[in-house]
Amino acid sequence: MKNGYRIYALILAAGKGERAGFEHNKMFQEFAGTTPLRRCLETFSGVQELDGIAVVSREEESDIVRRETEGIKKNIVITSGGDKRQDSVYNGLIAIRDKADIAVIHDGARCFVSEDLIKDCISSCIEYGSGVAGKMAKDTIKEVDDNGVFKKTLDRSHIAVIETPQVFFLRDILSAHEEAMNSGLVGTDDSSLMEAMGKKVRLVDGRASNEKLTYYEDFEKAEMEHMPKDIRVGQGYDIHRLVEGRELILGGVRFEGSKGLLGHSDGDAVLHAITDALFGAASLGDIGDHFPDNDDRYRGADSALLLKDAADIVRGNRWIIGNVDITVFLEEPKLGSKKGEMRKRISEILEIDPEKISVKAKTFEKLGPVGRGEAIAASATCMICR
Ligand code: MG
Repeated sequence: MKNGYRIYALILAAGKGERAGFEHNKMFQEFAGTTPLRRCLETFSGVQELDGIAVVSREEESDIVRRETEGIKKNIVITSGGDKRQDSVYNGLIAIRDKADIAVIHDGARCFVSEDLIKDCISSCIEYGSGVAGKMAKDTIKEVDDNGVFKKTLDRSHIAVIETPQVFFLRDILSAHEEAMNSGLVGTDDSSLMEAMGKKVRLVDGRASNEKLTYYEDFEKAEMEHMPKDIRVGQGYDIHRLVEGRELILGGVRFEGSKGLLGHSDGDAVLHAITDALFGAASLGDIGDHFPDNDDRYRGADSALLLKDAADIVRGNRWIIGNVDITVFLEEPKLGSKKGEMRKRISEILEIDPEKISVKAKTFEKLGPVGRGEAIAASATCMICR
């Protein structure tokens, strides 16, 4: 909301992006620990003026989009695009027309857009009725004939190259689309549709960073430039006593017919070790600082919920969770196939790929409390980056 106007972003992610040469939509192509869509969502979610974000995607990809929007703290609308960009924008406008007075239309492939450029375009729309990001041409511009022969040199001092965001009052851009449909005008961008209606459209000075990811090489370059620069490692260790009459839960997985681990919570030493490793890597204290064992809220607590909270806290400090490597020290029971189940469960709790979780087991050769079967211990190492 700004000046009483309700504002929604419309992120276009329905294109095929064939020029990038991936087998899937380039909006979901991973680079430097993120994807173009995720990066857009994170930037737009930081813009306070926005009331929500609508993502226009292909219907068959709506589940992937839903996953990408997890954890984004804005109202989210997911809607289906059409065959052409123009149809996708129109569908998106229809999806937000009851929620918004102003639409911030943005091409998802321009995922390095900055918060201040989005804000500049919104301010321009409020003040002048529109705000379209773009740059004045800096190269020599030639008009060419069908054979590529130069016809004339254009005066670049009055030529702008148009990008997104393109911000308009929703009623204006919606009626521009409807008029275009009625008159059979296709394949033009939103600013051209507005001009066709006789509306003035205003250029907002763009930013060098607002590049579009189009070709495979663009992704390679983005990977190099946006690789996390801060990489940290954390370790955690925990041990709990084995007692009769408690259920054994390790790595969030239940084991039948075994003694259980004594503890204030459910005693899951594996999840506690991971929790400490995460807090340790981010220098955010330890499990006891965040979830004190004299606090009744955590009596019998499901350690999965504590680990989930820890992951949220770490991510809230802008960290990406890389991988987790765990060793469980125990004589009994044999972990065997349960190791796979533990990986799967831990990956669900942390919301990272199971391939990034490793679970190993070791005995203590009958030595010490673990070796005598009186306790189970676990150690975990994790990597985080940003
Ligand atoms: Mg513990």
